[in-house]
Amino acid sequence: MRNGLSKDLIARVLGGAPKYTLDELEAKFPARNLPDGAFVTRFAPSPTGLMHLGGLYGALIDCKLASQSGGVFMLRIEDTDTKREVKEAVDIIIDSLNKFGLKYNDIPEYGPYYQSQRKDIYHSVAAYLLEKGLAYPCFLKPEEMDEIRKKQTSAGFATGIYGEWARDRDLTEEEIITHLDNGEKPSIRLYSTGDPNKRIFCKDAVRGSISFPENNEDLVLIKSNDGLPTYHFAHLVDDHFMRTTHVIRGEEWLSSLPLHYQLFRMMEWLPPLYIHTSTIDKIDAETGKQRKLSKRKDPEANVAFFMADGWPTDAVLEYLGNIAASGYEEAKMKGVVKSFWDYEMKPKKIPMSGALFDMKKLEWWAKEYIGAMTVSDLVANVIAWANEYGDDVNKKQIADVDYLTRILSIERDNPKRVRKDFITWKQTLSEIGYFWNELFVANTEYEFNSDLLRDFLATFNEGDDKDTWWNKIVAIATARGVKNGDVAMNLRVALTGRTNTPDLYSIMQVMGKQMVSERVEKVIK
Ligand code: GLU
Repeated sequence: MRNGLSKDLIARVLGGAPKYTLDELEAKFPARNLPDGAFVTRFAPSPTGLMHLGGLYGALIDCKLASQSGGVFMLRIEDTDTKREVKEAVDIIIDSLNKFGLKYNDIPEYGPYYQSQRKDIYHSVAAYLLEKGLAYPCFLKPEEMDEIRKKQTSAGFATGIYGEWARDRDLTEEEIITHLDNGEKPSIRLYSTGDPNKRIFCKDAVRGSISFPENNEDLVLIKSNDGLPTYHFAHLVDDHFMRTTHVIRGEEWLSSLPLHYQLFRMMEWLPPLYIHTSTIDKIDAETGKQRKLSKRKDPEANVAFFMADGWPTDAVLEYLGNIAASGYEEAKMKGVVKSFWDYEMKPKKIPMSGALFDMKKLEWWAKEYIGAMTVSDLVANVIAWANEYGDDVNKKQIADVDYLTRILSIERDNPKRVRKDFITWKQTLSEIGYFWNELFVANTEYEFNSDLLRDFLATFNEGDDKDTWWNKIVAIATARGVKNGDVAMNLRVALTGRTNTPDLYSIMQVMGKQMVSERVEKVIK
């Protein structure tokens, strides 16, 4: 510990007197009034302009653990890197959370939720540390730090500002004043008393107790250029005063855990319980090896991809939920629970590494999900997608809602035998494309038997019920000495261009007399 600074000097160092004392902050953000065991979690993205699938995975875990325990899930925007464009990037995050139905609670009492608006709070805590001699103003310039780094590297020392390298650690008040009078702006650094030869024990809810060498670096808490906090300091202050109980964050932060424990201990605050989540991986198509999803290489790394391509957001969530809580799929298949929100997730079972996200597996979740939907929900989702993301042809497909509904109703009346060929809203519209002349692709490879089709047209009556219709097909087959299936296949391909479709009778009913006759006539030679 060094000598603390006087109140006047603290005000000069921070560019203004602190607004609050620690006691005032404690009173302003009191302990939350929640049931025992309630989780208070937060999703704390830095607005970079893209929402990563790993971010959505973390936010889902945050939201789920809070909601199943009667707690609170917050969205906190970590916008302390002022060089980045924020507004649009925040919109992307909020829009993604809304579309995926992850509801956060932004009651004003514990806000503001943008770090850039919390400067008063950070400065108040920094003032406390300066007063206690737990932090100090550092006037090292970038060139000087470069110089230090070079010396450290050539001498084989660890780089960073620590111990004897921390030039300004023990400046006197007079020396500080001289720097300030020179117009220099300091950063505020931690006065670290950690000893790397000793170990600090930290807790991760999944990994258990982990020990690390103590931190001896005088890390920057408040940056000199804009007076905003670093991640480490903002995390300490925000998660304490927002009364976060569980910090769920990416495993890249695991190595910062000893520093964070050090900061919480220094403040005599109880640290939250940490859960460091695995990266989201895929199997690389070229190498066959598992690797982290890459923003550059993998479209699915970006959450916007799932919306633009019309994946049912709930199916994506179900799959991510199953990655986080591996027993979920089994419970759902057994019918024990209906959705991930009904399944009790165990924080201890969140995977520590290698969480694999496989698009083929997602297809399965999506098929199951759409298969279980009601027609009206399916129609509503397809329409909503087409309105926002669809092209002109898609818009045409949704123009006649009644027609669309009749098409999507095919093979949905028997809950035991629901068709499972729809994967995304976009693919659903393309799958049923043959119901529109603009999208119908005639099959030029199939060898039609014109005699069968002529016979069909001769007896075709749109009003026939299914049995009558089928009996006519059987009659044609018998008369021509072919199989019943041959007649049906000729019809199927003539009408849809495909050899594999849902129930043919239903398709014809929806298409109507004119479309059926025209398509059959077209292939007759
Ligand atoms: N802004 C940090 C990130 O995006 C937040 C980490 C955390 O959740 O504490 O990685």
